[in-house]
Amino acid sequence: MAAKPLLIVVSGPSGSGKGTLCAMLRQALPNLAYSVSATTRQPRPGERNEVDYFFISDAEFQQLIDRGEFLEWAEVYGHRYGTARPAVEAQLKAGRDMLLEIDVQGAMNIKKSFPDALLIFVQPPSLQELGARIANRGTESLQDLKVRMDCVLSELQAAEQYDHVVLNDKPEDALAELLEIIGDAKGKRSEVGKKIQNE
Ligand code: 5GP
Repeated sequence: MAAKPLLIVVSGPSGSGKGTLCAMLRQALPNLAYSVSATTRQPRPGERNEVDYFFISDAEFQQLIDRGEFLEWAEVYGHRYGTARPAVEAQLKAGRDMLLEIDVQGAMNIKKSFPDALLIFVQPPSLQELGARIANRGTESLQDLKVRMDCVLSELQAAEQYDHVVLNDKPEDALAELLEIIGDAKGKRSEVGKKIQNE
């Protein structure tokens, strides 16, 4: 019997560098499936529809909620974001490990429906560094920047509810740690898989 696929959830405050880290992780593990979320926020320069997000209107988002198409959804920094249920379920059914990059509320909801999900929190080295990273990105208006910074403390407190916290000081080190965590989790799953097979 093959080991159960892993559902990996990565969260962290805006500016923690989780987006870059997830991109590095996907490069390192090309077989890892990634769920492209839907959002009602406007695309940033350079972001592509259906690649970075499905950029949809409030009305479309509401229709998807009403039709039960989201595995989870949440309002984050004044916009709505959601994970498509059919895409995730199909990938897991096909035995593929799956990565979700979602906020803390979404992660907690996923844990309820998938108690085996591996929850990883990406922590920035310091609040100062975090503010600098968002500001340097230059993609947020001053108002949006303030909304994001106001959420940081409560987001950081949520770290204790995750299975692992990865400090993202140097992205290469953080990636190595992520890979080790995932490798360990996979190892445990195949041990369980082998045990069940032998019973
Ligand atoms: P951003 O606007 O910076 O791309 O994302 C804002 C926040 O929304 C981030 O914390 C990101 O992880 C989170 N997010 C992105 N997609 C989803 C989703 O499908 N569900 C939830 N709950 N949060 C999401």
